[in-house]
Amino acid sequence: MITQPEQRMTSTPGSKLADLPQVSRLAPELRRDIAVVSAVLPFKVNNYVLDELIDWSAAPDDPIFRLTFPHRDMLPDSMYQHVAAMLDAGANRAELRAAVAPLRKDLNPHPGDQMEKNVPGDEEGQLSGVQHKYRETALVFPANGQTCHSYCGYCFRWAQFVGISELKQQVDRPERVFGYLRGHHEISDVLLTGGDPMIMKTELLARYVEPLLEPGFEHVRNVRFGTKALSYWPYRFTTDPDADDLLRLFERLVAQGKHVAVMAHFSHPQELRTDAVKQAVRRIKDTGAVIRAQAPIVKHVNDNADAWARMWRELVRLGVVPYYMFVERDTGARDYFALPLHQVVDIYREAISQVSGLERTARGPVMSASPGKVVLDGVTEVGGEKVFVCRFLQARDPNRVNRPFFAAYDEQALWFDDLKPAFGRPDFLE
Ligand SMILES: *Cc1c(COP(=O)(O)O)cnc(C)c1O
Ligand code: SF4
Repeated sequence: MITQPEQRMTSTPGSKLADLPQVSRLAPELRRDIAVVSAVLPFKVNNYVLDELIDWSAAPDDPIFRLTFPHRDMLPDSMYQHVAAMLDAGANRAELRAAVAPLRKDLNPHPGDQMEKNVPGDEEGQLSGVQHKYRETALVFPANGQTCHSYCGYCFRWAQFVGISELKQQVDRPERVFGYLRGHHEISDVLLTGGDPMIMKTELLARYVEPLLEPGFEHVRNVRFGTKALSYWPYRFTTDPDADDLLRLFERLVAQGKHVAVMAHFSHPQELRTDAVKQAVRRIKDTGAVIRAQAPIVKHVNDNADAWARMWRELVRLGVVPYYMFVERDTGARDYFALPLHQVVDIYREAISQVSGLERTARGPVMSASPGKVVLDGVTEVGGEKVFVCRFLQARDPNRVNRPFFAAYDEQALWFDDLKPAFGRPDFLE
């Protein structure tokens, strides 16, 4: 008999994370931290993450617990004290909401012109919900895909989850996107992203991809789905009522000669252990789709070479292709998750050097910066100066792709913007 697991989600603010049965067995001070931090930052976990992914005997240091649960250090100490005092004083929900709103604003990452700059236009004006930064790839953010089955604590989209993002980037009318795609023959790849587009019912998701099967879209060779559903809710591809419809959709795309790429977000080998994820991978592969895996490297979750090496080995064993190791960008809980670039370079090198060539396909560490995707190829010395060796994997200006350049070595640097040109040559930063 096939049992059909049903999803139950606990999300904050609103329901209390600290009241979950597994959490109630944790130490009181940990539960207090969870209550305080989750009053400010958004959290969401479902029963699969709670029951099958987190190893509660290892909490709070379990990597999936760290990935999905609040930690005291995610808030600046003064903010933590302020909210803790309010909770202790028995503040009601409305008081708490009023107090927390400005705090969230302070934590809100500032994406700068990044998103505005990448939003294309058509005759009706700005095509919000589409990003067209690199010539060959258009990102599409369906309006109904702007949430996830659970949340990653480091997610840079968290402002969107609590509804305070001024840049609401989402597509309400798929037809308009297709008008744009029809007129842009340089676009070979369409990437549906979110949140998580797999949160949508297949019927709705299909409205964003089926038109690509019609005449006029032959130039779109690759259809990608960015998702963490394989980690957070693999039943999306196995026993959910519309799982089979989703696989049939992949098959139709493949049958018409499209390459279907499930861009899976896997953070840690622990996400690959369950029968559910293995079965989901098998079923997706059976449709002819290819699964590629990517994730940011973050402190407390996967900041060691061994975790990456084990993950890449296991991915390849399952038939998944390692694709990118990202450096996490600025987020609300950045201080908690950030790693210095030099450390990330070391971890990547150490991980890559211990796996087979087939398992070395993940490029990294990569920063998705304003001018493009920059990979740090390593640290070396040139003419007596210690430098980061950098390269654009993607660039707004295709001419810059794959030309090495050097940045001055800096122990403190966390992100591309912290880097200074080596040898006093500013050529690469403009
Ligand atoms: C990463 C990214 C892509 C896809 O890049 P690939 O190297 O082709 O995977 C497309 N658009 C944006 C804005 C991106 O950040
Ligand atoms: S799955 Fe992706 S979009 Fe969703 S919370 Fe995690 S990082 Fe953010």
